[in-house]
Amino acid sequence: MGNGLMSNRDRRECPAALRAAIRYEVKGNAAMKVLVINCGSSSLKFQLIDSGSEQCLAKGLCERIGIEGSMITYAPEGGDKEKTVTPMPDHTEAIRLVLEALTNPATGVVKSLEEIGAVGHRVVHGGEKFAESVVIDDGVLAAVEECNDLAPLHNPANLIGINACKKLMPNTPMVGVFDTAFHQTMPEEAYMYGLPYEYYQKYKIRRYGFHGTSHSYVSAKAAEVLGKKYEDLKIIVCHLGNGASVSAVKNGKCVDTSMGLTPLEGLIMGTRSGDIDPAIIEFLAHKEDRSIDEIMSVLNKKSGVLGLSGNLSSDFRDLEDGYNRGDANAVRALNTYCYRVAKYVGSYVAAMNGVDVICFTAGIGENAPLVRNFVCGYLGYLGVELDQEANHKRGEDIVITTPDSRTTVMVIPTNEELAIARETVRLVG
Ligand code: ADP
Repeated sequence: MGNGLMSNRDRRECPAALRAAIRYEVKGNAAMKVLVINCGSSSLKFQLIDSGSEQCLAKGLCERIGIEGSMITYAPEGGDKEKTVTPMPDHTEAIRLVLEALTNPATGVVKSLEEIGAVGHRVVHGGEKFAESVVIDDGVLAAVEECNDLAPLHNPANLIGINACKKLMPNTPMVGVFDTAFHQTMPEEAYMYGLPYEYYQKYKIRRYGFHGTSHSYVSAKAAEVLGKKYEDLKIIVCHLGNGASVSAVKNGKCVDTSMGLTPLEGLIMGTRSGDIDPAIIEFLAHKEDRSIDEIMSVLNKKSGVLGLSGNLSSDFRDLEDGYNRGDANAVRALNTYCYRVAKYVGSYVAAMNGVDVICFTAGIGENAPLVRNFVCGYLGYLGVELDQEANHKRGEDIVITTPDSRTTVMVIPTNEELAIARETVRLVG
């Protein structure tokens, strides 16, 4: 029975208690189907992942939860995407519909909910309380709730999703995977702001960073693809999606990242300003006769490349088209965006006293060769030599520098859902 499996003879001769123990042991090592939930205030993304093959079995999205015109999009692997407009007054109903879709006799991918071994929940803010993923229990829920102040738009929605799942699947283990957890290894000099220390003591105002699941997955994957030890490398990850952040990962640990107390800090993003002089807020409030809340809304929703391009677009496909037409708005937005990324890369080279690998990931990082080209154009001092043919490939883990390049630059497609599923299995499998 060396392989952990029982022969028929073993089964006949094995006492019941031992059989149960062996079954448990086998189950513990077996693959399971993990439901990954990413819950927003009015939306919910889901994926069912087989942890053995690491394949996505089905995925989808519930939109306009609690708003008129709500709909669920469901796509089984290899099957057709179906969209159903149906009332979703709350998240419990949304999750009920997700579970119904997954078990639908015609298009579902599991026969019953019993087949779902665990649920992994993305939780945006774990504050200083969570440096790792955790199995969710009442204590964890209370601790997440205490972080609500730090992410008032996201954490309450994440909690609603967890509670709705608990209601419908009370016996299925659940794991919380935090966007902030990977960054908890930052040293004090990287996470403190130059503010009166009492604000850190009273309110925990500090840099937390986000996209941690992606930064962790991509940096580890880069080491794996290169066949090098994660613990031996200095890696910079540029996660360039609608929201965007850079991280410095030294010897397998995050030592700095560009987002801060909130996701507003750092890079210029789709619609977020990233770093600005904080005095601009007061200046604009006076000039435009607007409240702080209104200015914050401008910084979050009307700035970034959308604002910089004079409202041309927040989508890089449009900006690239505009750039190729010579549109001055697109040129300004792209140049300013890429310059900021390059500045962050430079500051993290300084923070780590060097860099071995620079990774691009997320919607823009994976799909916009022009952006990678511009950013790498600033990195001559690192001996970066782009391989233009490789830089135009898509959808794979790939090195985009020449063999002679002193620093390696890679594109690593991120997979936050898979990373959440892996964490879930690690804790409850
Ligand atoms: P988020 O998860 O933060 O919503 P994503 O990682 O999905 O963001 O990235 C969305 C961004 O990716 C959009 O700005 C979009 O313009 C960009 N993007 C997607 N596909 C392409 C493409 N083919 N070329 C250039 N940009 C792309």
